[in-house]
Amino acid sequence: MGHHDLIVIGAGPGGYVAAIRAAQLGLNVACVEQEPALGGTCLRVGCIPSKALLESSERFAEARAELKNHGVVAGDIGLDLATMLRRKDQVVGLNTKGIDALFKKNKITRYLGRGRLAGPGRVDVIETPKGAGPTELQAKYVIIATGSKSAPLRSVELDYDRIGTSTEALAYPAVPKRLVVIGAGYIGLELGSVWRRLGAQVTVFEYLDRILPGTDADIAAEALKLFKRQGLEFRLGARVTGARKNGLGCIVELEGVEPIGCDRVLLAVGRVPNTDDLGLETVGIKPDAKGRIPVDDHFATTAPGIFAIGDVIRGPMLAHKAEDEGIACVEHIVTGYGHVNYDAIPGVCYTEPEIAGVGRTEEQLKAEGRAYRTGVFHFRGNGRARALGHIDGKVKILADAQTDRILGVHIIGPRAGDLIAEAAVAIEFGASSEDLARCSHAHPTLAEALKEAALAVDARAIHA
Ligand code: NAD
Repeated sequence: MGHHDLIVIGAGPGGYVAAIRAAQLGLNVACVEQEPALGGTCLRVGCIPSKALLESSERFAEARAELKNHGVVAGDIGLDLATMLRRKDQVVGLNTKGIDALFKKNKITRYLGRGRLAGPGRVDVIETPKGAGPTELQAKYVIIATGSKSAPLRSVELDYDRIGTSTEALAYPAVPKRLVVIGAGYIGLELGSVWRRLGAQVTVFEYLDRILPGTDADIAAEALKLFKRQGLEFRLGARVTGARKNGLGCIVELEGVEPIGCDRVLLAVGRVPNTDDLGLETVGIKPDAKGRIPVDDHFATTAPGIFAIGDVIRGPMLAHKAEDEGIACVEHIVTGYGHVNYDAIPGVCYTEPEIAGVGRTEEQLKAEGRAYRTGVFHFRGNGRARALGHIDGKVKILADAQTDRILGVHIIGPRAGDLIAEAAVAIEFGASSEDLARCSHAHPTLAEALKEAALAVDARAIHA
């Protein structure tokens, strides 16, 4: 029996960060992970490989369409997909090895196998490599950080090849001629963009009458316009009712219209928590209707000493949300203090242009009946955006009508994912739009667009 202070089940961004922070705080920590590579979905088959492919495919698209505008003559631009995919794998490999090194540095004991609760304070490591037999572990605290998996859709017959999830779409061996994406969320748009840039004809079927549910509607509408201009095809209000393999291709069925043929299907209709066969019943934890583990404000489950963080609990399924929860959970266990401000968690869609938001959307403010003022600044008025040649998009700041406190910031445009960090800090610190407007922003930078949007809340933007 292995004895530890804390056992973390799952080494994704929630679990590995919690393990490192707990070790920093002096706990004897173990982490149980079933995959040989640490880092979870995010590092292995999610955020990191998709960003590697987004970067490579964007360079390919830029080289073909835009370099000549800069006076760069490059001759024929070709695609070596095998090298692109190999580079992505190398990026993943280096990142996961980095977590190995961090575990060693922090003296975290690693168990390879599947972790399953076996009663209060007890975890069995099963399905160990080469049938080494189960290992029994004991600890005062256990954190469940087992993440999520792609949600299935009834009658979509996944064969994890022609009809697959994001995992398969990160490694198609050849550019599909015709790719159907089911779902216009983060995954569908990011990976749809990758294969469109590499030459596929991509059609996105979305059940709702808009894309990017949860994103500020006005920003999502602008994104839709730009994606269509790039050549992505959309069928909104289209409910996919089935998909199956048909010879070397696939057939996709939709409500009320003729079936559509394609080479590959990417199913991206959300994710569901990994709570199956976790031994939750051995400690009396009952998942909710969506399969999530109920927790209190400090991530404690109904079972004493057992906590849960990340995609297995309520809230957005985002790597950084899981990381923040891992740290807050462990700090609360050890120090009695630990908190996550869910109003200041940014969300980013890494398309071109990027789309990012933090805080309330206009729809949420309207639903809450809250009076607000809006400041908008378009990137076409920003000198740096012009120099980059990326002038599409805007920054929108929503501030309380009485107090001027910033309630939400939404950006579509170049490097929106980096720019949103300033807005998240402003919201965390309770800044007003005037605070942001009075801060010096280096010139010429894209960040000046945030300052101008803050000035625009009071109708005094300079470059608009
Ligand atoms: P999502 O929930 O963001 O979007 C799924 C979309 O599928 C929705 O718009 C929904 O209306 C649509 N849909 C559902 N059923 C349908 C049907 N039958 N026919 C047509 N459309 C249908 O889900 P996702 O894009 O799969 O992402 C999963 C999770 O992973 C999300 O929580 C997301 O936050 C996270 N993620 C984040 C990032 C990022 O931060 N950049 C990237 C990838 C994934």
